[in-house]
Order: sequence, then C-alpha cells, then structure tokens
Amino acid sequence: MLTNRQLFLLHMGQTSSSPLLVEVEKAQGSIMYGPDGRKYIDLISGVSVSNTGHRHPKVIEAIRKQLDSYLHLMVYGEMIQSPQVRFAEHLSSLLPDCLNVCYFVNSGSEAVEGAMKLARKYTRRSRIISFKNAYHGSTCGALSIQGSEFYKNAFRPLLPDTLQIGFNDFDSLESIDEHTACVIVEPVQAEAGVIYPESGFLQEIRNRCSNKGALLVFDEVQTGFGRIGKMFAIDRFGVVPDILVLAKAIGGGMPLGAFISSGEIMAVLSNNPQLGHITTFGGHPVCCAAGLASLEVIIEENLSEECIRKSGLIKKTLVHPLIHEVRGEGLLLAVEVKKPEYTQYIVANAPGFGIILDYFLFCNTAFRIAPPLNIPDDILIQSCKQLLMLLDDTEKNVR
Ligand code: PMP
Repeated sequence: MLTNRQLFLLHMGQTSSSPLLVEVEKAQGSIMYGPDGRKYIDLISGVSVSNTGHRHPKVIEAIRKQLDSYLHLMVYGEMIQSPQVRFAEHLSSLLPDCLNVCYFVNSGSEAVEGAMKLARKYTRRSRIISFKNAYHGSTCGALSIQGSEFYKNAFRPLLPDTLQIGFNDFDSLESIDEHTACVIVEPVQAEAGVIYPESGFLQEIRNRCSNKGALLVFDEVQTGFGRIGKMFAIDRFGVVPDILVLAKAIGGGMPLGAFISSGEIMAVLSNNPQLGHITTFGGHPVCCAAGLASLEVIIEENLSEECIRKSGLIKKTLVHPLIHEVRGEGLLLAVEVKKPEYTQYIVANAPGFGIILDYFLFCNTAFRIAPPLNIPDDILIQSCKQLLMLLDDTEKNVR
C-alpha cells in the first residue's frame, strides 16, 4: 500500500516543487500532531485562518449543532437560513453603518471578484486600481489586479483596464480619476512582507476616491478578525471603505468569504440583470455557524487586545544576530533576515524544530509569524526558543 506522502505526490495537484510535506493527524488549539507522534507548534494559523486556534470547543459545538439541522439547502440568496442571517447581523453590528449588507461567498478570491463586479456595476466605470506587491487571490479577475508582473505574465491576457500603483506613493494617487471604478487596497500589505501604510496614506486614498466618485475597497482577508490588534483594520486606521472584503478567519476554520457594503450599493447586484452574481455554496450554513461562533470567541476572549500583548512577547524573546527586524503589529509579523537563503532554510527546516513557519509571496528576505490569537503564553515562548535554535542552526549551515 502506498503511504499518504506517496499518494500526495502522485495524485494531488501541486502548487510548487517544494511543499512542506508535513503530515498531520490531528490539530488542537495551537498544536498540530503528526501520525508519528511528532508535535508542531502552529505559528501560521493556516495563513491567518485559525484565529481562535484549531477546533475551538465553541466552534466545534456550533458546527455539531448545525449538522443536526441542515447542510446545503439551496443556492445562495433564496432561502432564509438562520446561521447566515445571524452572522450577517453580527458582522454589521461591528462595522460602520455604511457596511451593513453582507454577500457571502466561499473564499477570498471569490469575495474580491464580487467586490470588483459590484464596483464596476455601481459606478458604470471599468478601471480598477490596486497596488504593487498586492495579493488579492488567484482567480483570473483577482490575478489581474495582483501587484506582481512575475505571477501574472504566465496567464495573460487578463482583465483589461487595471492599473497597479505604488503603495505609500502619495503622488501616484493622482491616477485615481473619473474613469476609476474602484481602488482596492490591503490596509496592511500582507504578502509584500507586512508593509504598513504611512501615516495619512489610506485617508488620502479615501479622499481621492470620494472626490472622483470611485469606490474604495478594503481587502481585509488577512488583517480581519483581530489579527492586527483591532477587530478590523478599519478600526486601526479610522478609514472607512465603501466595500469590505473578508475571508480566511471569517469561517473559524471553515471555507467562507464575504464582501460587505451598503444596501444602496449592494442593490445593483440584484437587478438588470437579475442573477448577475450568484454562487451555489456561498455562505454555507455550517461555515456561517462556525464563523459566528468564532467571532463570539474573539470578542469574549478579547483576542484582538491579547494579540498585541503576545506580539510584545515575541518581539522581546526573538533577539538573534540573524534577525534585523520583527515587523508588524499584533500577530501578523514579518521576521526580516535580509538573505533569501536564510528564509529558505528557516522555513524548510522549521518542522524539524517542531514549529510551522511560512514564506511571503513577495518578500523573500523575511518569514511569517502569524499564530492563533489565543496561543497560550508558555507555548508561544517555547516556540520562540525553538525558533532561536533554528536560527543558530541556520547561521552554522547557510553561508
Ligand atoms: N486577499 C488577500 C489579502 C489574501 O491574503 C488572500 C489569500 N492569501 C486572498 C485575498 C485570496 O483568498 P483565497 O485564497 O481564500 O482565495
């Protein structure tokens, strides 16, 4: 009989030539367990997904309860399903008044697609402006606004009338004009290696969009749900978009995404043509039940504030000659080691040191730390010590 590892390599479509190849049998809290009895501390959260840890008891209970009621009933937007409407209501209550209508989908890419279509239909304009080194997903539309020619070139032709301008380049905001349907921005650029906006930059985009009649879209797929120390980056920066894109942590570990706007803007998707934007599984009731439970945990356990404190612990503990900077706030951190060879070695060898780390798509001189927001202090400090040993090992082995 073939091993799971052999089957993985034989029958699973691969995304790269160097997958992590760690087999996991069970995950609980901040720990993953291999079939060989090995333990890994999860410092990535499935890339900012498991904000409340793996299998939080309240999330599991909500999923079980929903399993006893119903699974998929009907395509999105036809039937009244309690987990969807309760979740949409709770999200609205946490957001500014103009973000009170929620369209559920299955993923971040799909939410970005929905936001782009919504902005084009509402403004009757076509140009979509995004930023260099931005990542918004891998579907053709989302790829078209990605800020990396390297990833886009192999798949052209992509969507016409898109433009990528410099993040933190105030002058380039002049290209936002009366042809612009929307500007889509990650308030903190995640895959660029956790790049924060300079003071006033997001506000300047907001002003320019308002003056020119373009919509502002925030992609909070990575920053949302407490990860940078506030429930949303909207609260951190005090700038309100016209459309908010959410995914990853929104489902508490289940696949879910959403784009959220005002009733007035969202209304254009339900007419002329009707059914112009539809999804079969969007807002799956089990995913919404899990997402709502996870959101309640984030609030009850005060996880957004907790993650600022934990970030401080990491920064205090992670002192090593290879580390130039630990960048970011909360638990979306980039550890800058300056050399791509170091990053490569560190991430690839992390499982051997009992920790899971990850790369950034557009920054090869840093690696990512983004653990569950409720990782216990002792496990967090333990993981930092294991990481320091890995850095010693890197120093010895990589020239
Ligand atoms: N936007 C951002 C900022 C992301 O980080 C990602 C995924 N890494 C996406 C969109 C796409 O999400 P998904 O992989 O769920 O399609």
